[in-house]
Amino acid sequence: MEKLVGVQTITHFIGGEMKQGTSGRFGKVFKPSTGEVMVLCPYASAEEVNEAVAIAKNAFAGWKKTPVAQRVEIIHRFRSLLVEKTEELAQLIGLESGKTISDAKGEISRGLESVDLAINAPHLLKGEYSVNVGGEINAYSIKQPLGVVTAISPFNFPFMVPVAMATMAVACGNAVILKPSEKVPNSALFFSKLWKEAGLPDGVWNVVNGDKEAVDALLKHPDVPAVSFVGSTRIAQYIYEEGCRNHKRVAAFGGGKNHMIIMPDADLDHAVNSFLGAAYGAASQRCMAISAAVPVGEKTAEAFVAKLKRRVQDLKVGAYNDADADFGALISQESKETVIKYIEQSLQEGAELCVDGRHPEAPHSQGFYLGATLLDHVTPDMQIYREEVFGPARIVVRLNSLDEAIELINNHEYGNGVTIFTNNGYAGRTFAEQIEVGMVGINVPIPIPVGYHNFGGWKRSKFGESHMFGPDTARFFTKSKTISERWPENDIQHDQVNFDFPSNR
Ligand code: NAD
Repeated sequence: MEKLVGVQTITHFIGGEMKQGTSGRFGKVFKPSTGEVMVLCPYASAEEVNEAVAIAKNAFAGWKKTPVAQRVEIIHRFRSLLVEKTEELAQLIGLESGKTISDAKGEISRGLESVDLAINAPHLLKGEYSVNVGGEINAYSIKQPLGVVTAISPFNFPFMVPVAMATMAVACGNAVILKPSEKVPNSALFFSKLWKEAGLPDGVWNVVNGDKEAVDALLKHPDVPAVSFVGSTRIAQYIYEEGCRNHKRVAAFGGGKNHMIIMPDADLDHAVNSFLGAAYGAASQRCMAISAAVPVGEKTAEAFVAKLKRRVQDLKVGAYNDADADFGALISQESKETVIKYIEQSLQEGAELCVDGRHPEAPHSQGFYLGATLLDHVTPDMQIYREEVFGPARIVVRLNSLDEAIELINNHEYGNGVTIFTNNGYAGRTFAEQIEVGMVGINVPIPIPVGYHNFGGWKRSKFGESHMFGPDTARFFTKSKTISERWPENDIQHDQVNFDFPSNR
């Protein structure tokens, strides 16, 4: 595309410097709250990606030898800078993603949990040691970094997700190429400068902006042994298959369809309050957002929907910096149109419109605003139930028993998050045991695990066995090596040859 007059073009961050793009390709980055173009983002060519990988590989040679205590000291400083710059970072996240400032601060705080975990790298990288496993032989296992690893991130968490994906990689001694979402590249450039300020050697942390061309170049590059991806399921599957075909280690996290079960004995006010925030927060643009309320029994459904409807009608969509807004604009006009199509299709299929958010009062006519919509009597065969809807159209599916609810959820293609509201411990325990979903809540709105527990869905919400957050990240970004060594007191006798398989007995 042509450059726009008066619109700044941003850069990549490679080798510790802001580097201009050279491909001649750019994309527009919008301010969702006003619909204006914020900046132009350069889209890297394969050649630019190759150049960045070469720079990162060079930096890796020194970084992998840097003692872990020194690596962690830099991460400590990075953490302090993030805390110091929280206000500025939250403004930037809000500006380019549309989410409210308070929501952006929540994202920063959760992202810091992953930084905290990375500061524990000396503990997580400890190996194992066994003495005298056989005739004066000691055996030990160590964890070594992989090399130049890549993280490819989505638009909806411009800070938390890339930081959760890749800070541990740095702590483990790898060099990183982050390919942020081309819709929100500014936050990544902002915190990359903080890495430099914290003292990270140039080339250990790099940001290459771009689209499919840059991603494909990373997937094919022989010097990139590991790919961590977060985004939609269709692309997650593509990344997983292409990455594996190119012999890479891949963890690819996809979309979700997250249910909230409301049992007849649940505290309804608690359930309604929890649903509102978990379902509509961030304009429902969270992989862990609750999409479907599943009240059990007609009486529960009638009472829950009556209370919920009134509250949904009062929700306020607004600009990212409007302190009274419950949630902000969607990421793009296209996204807004997609959500409206889901609503219209569901009405044709027989859903009942309880609250219509298609024409909200918007502070800017060109902003990508959509109000909160609630649809009742949705059935499992409807498109709006089957697919992930990344916008504030939420649904109610009425069922008659916990068994039916478990069966419904287990049959869904996604298995990211789920939650149940009940005062019955047995129901909660049965549910947690039988549900085929990776992250389960009992009387909590969004069961996002704390940063030092593993995060990741089941079924088509995750491809690959590793998790994001938690100790799995240290395993993902290292390879294990086991050494058996013998340093005998006396000279080894070399006059015997043994053709039997070595026994330690
Ligand atoms: P997306 O899949 O469109 O984009 C994610 C990344 O993939 C971006 O960096 C993008 O540039 C790249 N990409 C897009 N199309 C590509 C292609 N054809 N080939 C190669 N690379 C491509 O996702 P998004 O819209 O940015 O983010 C929203 C999605 O992410 C939702 O589905 C949401 O549920 C999911 N998500 C999942 C998690 C999780 O932890 N499971 C967390 C956050 C978001």
